[in-house]
Amino acid sequence: MHTHDEEASKLLDAIVAYSRERLEMDPVPLDGPKTLAELDAVVPKTVTEDGIGGLPALKLFEDVLAQACISTDNPRYVSFIPAAPTEAATMFDLVVAASCIYGGSWMEGAGAVYAENQVLSWLASEVGFPGDAGGVFVQGGTLGNLSALVTARDQAARRREADGRGRPERWKAACSNEAHSSLAAAARVMDIDLVPIPVDSSGRLNGAEVDAALADAGDGVFAVVATAGTTNFGIVDDLASIAAVAKRRGLWLHVDGAYGLAGILSPAHRDLYAGVENADSFIVDPHKWLYAPFDACALIYRDPELGRQAHTQHADYLDPLTGADEWNPSDYAYNLTRRARGLPLWFSLATYGVRAYREAIAGTIELAHVIADEIRSRPGFTLVREPELSVVVFSKDGWTAGDYAAWSKRLLESGDSFVVPSSHQGRPVTRFALINPRTTKEDLVRILDSMD
Ligand SMILES: *Cc1c(COP(=O)(O)O)cnc(C)c1O
Repeated sequence: MHTHDEEASKLLDAIVAYSRERLEMDPVPLDGPKTLAELDAVVPKTVTEDGIGGLPALKLFEDVLAQACISTDNPRYVSFIPAAPTEAATMFDLVVAASCIYGGSWMEGAGAVYAENQVLSWLASEVGFPGDAGGVFVQGGTLGNLSALVTARDQAARRREADGRGRPERWKAACSNEAHSSLAAAARVMDIDLVPIPVDSSGRLNGAEVDAALADAGDGVFAVVATAGTTNFGIVDDLASIAAVAKRRGLWLHVDGAYGLAGILSPAHRDLYAGVENADSFIVDPHKWLYAPFDACALIYRDPELGRQAHTQHADYLDPLTGADEWNPSDYAYNLTRRARGLPLWFSLATYGVRAYREAIAGTIELAHVIADEIRSRPGFTLVREPELSVVVFSKDGWTAGDYAAWSKRLLESGDSFVVPSSHQGRPVTRFALINPRTTKEDLVRILDSMD
């Protein structure tokens, strides 16, 4: 809809002004949720036959709706996994929206796909994958893990068919007890079983444990999933020994690095990921620790042709696309129409260079260690585990789950910070997840002080 009248031009100015103001807030206010009843009380009916008009709708968003959302890029948002997109990445997200690119096929989006693929190639090379590795930016890690497992099973099914073995009674994928909930979700969607494997005393999955579990797992296992940076603790599994076991057993190795694989960009931490280069596929979420806006997950295959075999959709109306010998991103995951969601990261990398990313990521890992030292030295506090990447788990002696909940609520309601209770081995704890280079030691000390 193009209405080049005065009203449309005013609306454009207002949108650009709003976006500029939001981008220039430093720091952005934390804000926070309202209840349904609170929103019902102040938000009029907006979806009407005549509409309420763009400027009033924008004003409503600015004054009410946006403020009823927590700003994930506030430096004292340290819950779950925060977000901290660069200015360049966010600005370019506006450009992507304005450009109306169909990112599913080369025919329609060649230039965008070309730029996205430069980023995927760079990520693949950082991980040590061969030069012809590739994949696609999907919506998130949940979809990335699912798409990788679907490819792994497809390969296993083709091999069994070729060997005349037929389908197993149950398909199975093996992963650790610390693996992300999205794997259980994928297993439900695929109607497969997960073979759970215990982590060792350091919280890591290792090859010996995988081997022992697989020896008992019976027929039908097609993949092993290792985690490069668990969401709870930021622990990287022992990828080299797991890769050796997967290879010996002829199983697909998928590495879930949604949060933590970005840490490989820190030269001092590269060694933690030794063995990742032997995986068959991996994911990493730019919307987590690669400073891109929601939502983006890079899914990369060692041999992308296998992804294409598993995922290409066939239909008469798609023949001009699927028949062509061109790179169609839709073919590599469970998706068809797609936004060129890799472009904000591409623009940001092109703007600032890779070195800025290495420095920002190394800096947040360093901050995690600095605040861990602070927690260890504070009477009344217990550091649950030495951080490995940028997640710090700790407890306040004597606090109950209720104490954490009340404290967390108070911090959010006062607009000070967002840090939520968690639990470890049945005991209540809390956790700092650090991503944002603007988060300082002082920010975190202030949160610790609020527990006294
Ligand atoms: C966040 C996360 C996921 C899920 O990614 P989404 O982008 O939230 O779907 C999967 N695995 C790990 C290890 C994660 O940290």
